[in-house]
Amino acid sequence: MVNSKIQAAEENLIHVYNRFPIVLDHGEGMYLYDTEGKEYLDFAAGFAVCGLGYGNRELNEALKAQIDKLYHTSNLYYHESCGAAAEALNRISGMDRVFFTNSGGEANEGALKAARRYAYTKKTGRYEIIAMENSFHGRSIGAVSVTGHDDYRKPFEPLLPGVKFAKLNDLDSVKALVSDKTCAIILEPLQGEGGINPASQEFMEGIRQICDENDILMICDEVQCGMGRTGSMFAWQGFGVKPDILTMAKAIGNGIPVGAFAMTEEVAKYSLKPGDHGATYGGNPLACTAVKKVIEIFEKEDIIGHVNKVAPYLTKRLDELVQEVGCVAERKGKGLMQGIVLTKPVAEVNSRAIEEGLLVIQAHGNVLRFVPPLIVEEKHIDEMIDKLRRALA
Ligand SMILES: *Cc1c(COP(=O)(O)O)cnc(C)c1O
Repeated sequence: MVNSKIQAAEENLIHVYNRFPIVLDHGEGMYLYDTEGKEYLDFAAGFAVCGLGYGNRELNEALKAQIDKLYHTSNLYYHESCGAAAEALNRISGMDRVFFTNSGGEANEGALKAARRYAYTKKTGRYEIIAMENSFHGRSIGAVSVTGHDDYRKPFEPLLPGVKFAKLNDLDSVKALVSDKTCAIILEPLQGEGGINPASQEFMEGIRQICDENDILMICDEVQCGMGRTGSMFAWQGFGVKPDILTMAKAIGNGIPVGAFAMTEEVAKYSLKPGDHGATYGGNPLACTAVKKVIEIFEKEDIIGHVNKVAPYLTKRLDELVQEVGCVAERKGKGLMQGIVLTKPVAEVNSRAIEEGLLVIQAHGNVLRFVPPLIVEEKHIDEMIDKLRRALA
């Protein structure tokens, strides 16, 4: 089938994505529809972004009203919702001070600068960063430098000096890398791109202890696992292990491009000062309206309560697949961020799923990932499993 829209994209975009040959048109709740009217059940949520799904009337009305009023001004001035969005995000994330970015990569970039700036003020001479193998932190040079996978790094070397990689859930591998030059340790409490690998309770506590004993900053990247996905507003809260710096993006704007890095007051005292950092679009009126409204809806509709109610059903249905389907070796993950390890090529299954009208995402380690909108219900999980069984057959 020659589709003129696909052809125009193929001829004009830089080829960095392996796109599937469908053209999406609109969405409603848990479903997306292509230009030919075919329906797709969405267990991808635009990469764990659309927590509230598609076509949320209240959010859309707030965004439309803000567009008509004002959608950009500069950060030389305050605007109506910058304070309210920051207050709400700090309240739910447990942090004290926040900076709005336009993406997750940019949030991590800012977090690395904030950590370096902390060491600079304190004149500790610390600059090294310990990151985890299999991590993913974004595509900018700083974020790629702390991303623990050669595929993302090799073509762009040399990267930032002073970055070392430890093994997730292996505290000794972290301790072996700690020196009087270590500035920060960055990790995802639940690795997404790397294959849905959860940090253990002991590991999170151990990292916190290493940081406390050595004046090292703990940075949690919750760009993917934050905002309700694991059953608490942020994953660190589920562990009771609080980072010094927290990065967020994806679901905090439900698709309006917005990210953030936030820190405790103790870090802020020594970290970024006027002139040290900025972002022209960062935290503009539209982005802040999105953050403010998304949080309001999360709280009003008790999205966290819903995640905790429905997630065990997803776990149960995926565990059944492990038992019953030969090519499904293992289930991994937590809450509404889960994956299955396949023994047949995951790309093939992904394409078959799309034919069946199901959107899922691949992750490293031959993992098929499920990160549905958080409004998912048991009936959608049943429908997903039916489609998936056919795709796996
Ligand atoms: C997606 C992701 C990023 C990068 O976010 P962008 O908005 O694409 O820059 C960073 N960290 C994690 C854990 C992610 O999942």
